[in-house]
Amino acid sequence: MKEFDIAVVGAGLAGSLAALALAEAGRRVALVAPPAHAGDGRTTALMDQSIAFLKRLGIWEAVAPHAAPLEAMRILDGTSRLLRAPAVTFRAREVGLDAFGYNIPNAPFIALLEERIAARPEIERVTAGVTALTFHPDHIELTPADGERLTTRFVIGADGRRSLVREAAGIGVKSWSYPQTALVLNFSHERPHGNASCEFHTESGPFTQVPLPGDRSSLVWVLPPPQADVMRRKTADEIARAIEDRMQSMLGKVALAGDVQSFPLSGMTAERFGRGRVALIGEAGHAFPPIGAQGLNLSLRDIIALEDLLRGGGAYETLGDRFDRRRRADVRSRTASVDLLNRSLLSDFLPVQFLRAAGLHLLGALGPLRGLAMREGIEPGGALKAFREEIRQRLDRRSA
Ligand SMILES: Cc1cc2nc3c(=O)[nH]c(=O)nc-3n(C[C@H](O)[C@H](O)[C@H](O)COP(=O)(O)OP(=O)(O)OC[C@H]3O[C@@H](n4cnc5c(N)ncnc54)[C@H](O)[C@@H]3O)c2cc1C
Repeated sequence: MKEFDIAVVGAGLAGSLAALALAEAGRRVALVAPPAHAGDGRTTALMDQSIAFLKRLGIWEAVAPHAAPLEAMRILDGTSRLLRAPAVTFRAREVGLDAFGYNIPNAPFIALLEERIAARPEIERVTAGVTALTFHPDHIELTPADGERLTTRFVIGADGRRSLVREAAGIGVKSWSYPQTALVLNFSHERPHGNASCEFHTESGPFTQVPLPGDRSSLVWVLPPPQADVMRRKTADEIARAIEDRMQSMLGKVALAGDVQSFPLSGMTAERFGRGRVALIGEAGHAFPPIGAQGLNLSLRDIIALEDLLRGGGAYETLGDRFDRRRRADVRSRTASVDLLNRSLLSDFLPVQFLRAAGLHLLGALGPLRGLAMREGIEPGGALKAFREEIRQRLDRRSA
């Protein structure tokens, strides 16, 4: 039976990047998962801290030609409510950065990671799903669907929302759903986007255009499921027209590029993010709606925390518990912020609308608060906690 220091289960973006980072840290790694899904039409906006991580891994140069910089972010109130928030534009230059981050298409990103993984002698790529984990006092045995069993001193569960690793480690989840579906697509447009993203907050959820290289953008359009179904059944030209209308022709005429994919929105948090010889990263540990480009950025901070704990030494048998303690605050606060922003958009309750509008107004008007909010988005630290608490209390009082 082959022996490894660490087995990473799951080869999505989180698992693939974790395997590369741990190989870089000198560990002998098994990456066990079926071949990556090639048809992922999504794009991922990664913020400055995540880009620094990719640079450190030596993969940014190869990713960069596929990516577009996010130099400005606009938030516009697309609701027809009484209290509408003013438009707010954040510019990276205001916080001394060339770009807040970059928007990267998932398909070439994952293909590039597979290539890099294949070239690393420290990583054994086992292209099969794991069917069972057997826990022993000093190691864990993994059974792949087809192939030889292997033993490892530590397992990283990067196997997505329905994580087998999480279940095998006896870790429960708290999950919830939203009455929303995200339509995801890419489109070309007549006018240049100026490396700016545009997020319209609407009653059904956000409509977010994010730049891609050239005169192209990606779109995440959150709608109630029946409306999403109707939209998906329309012709490409009809969908393009609906996008142009929603954006008030800001980018001129629009044409779809590729398929429309849909993702029902839900949230999930594991009760713990690690235990003993197991850690959960990425969507195996936490998942929430695609608002404010948080999901993979949070997952990369999981990996950075693991790297740091491994650098600090200590036994593998307690690494999962130490990882859990290290990640709790960040994961919980990100999940709460995204959930609250989404719920505040959905809420018809006037005081909540007022707070959201007033919050955006303050962000638009006050220099120091804008800086704080932008820093919070790029590198989190709880700066917006008070505002978040206020909205939460009002929503809770409303539903009590
Ligand atoms: C519409 C949308 C837009 C998004 N936009 C952004 C964004 O702009 N910025 C951002 O930071 N995040 C964004 N996210 C979130 C981000 O895409 C996810 O956080 C990220 O893709 C999750 O990656 P993952 O590797 O954790 O999970 P997955 O991509 O789900 O990967 C899990 C992997 O585990 C494998 N697997 C499952 N079971 C087993 C098993 N038993 N054995 C072995 N392997 C197994 C699967 O085959 C898969 O390869 C977005 C999400 C959505 C839905």
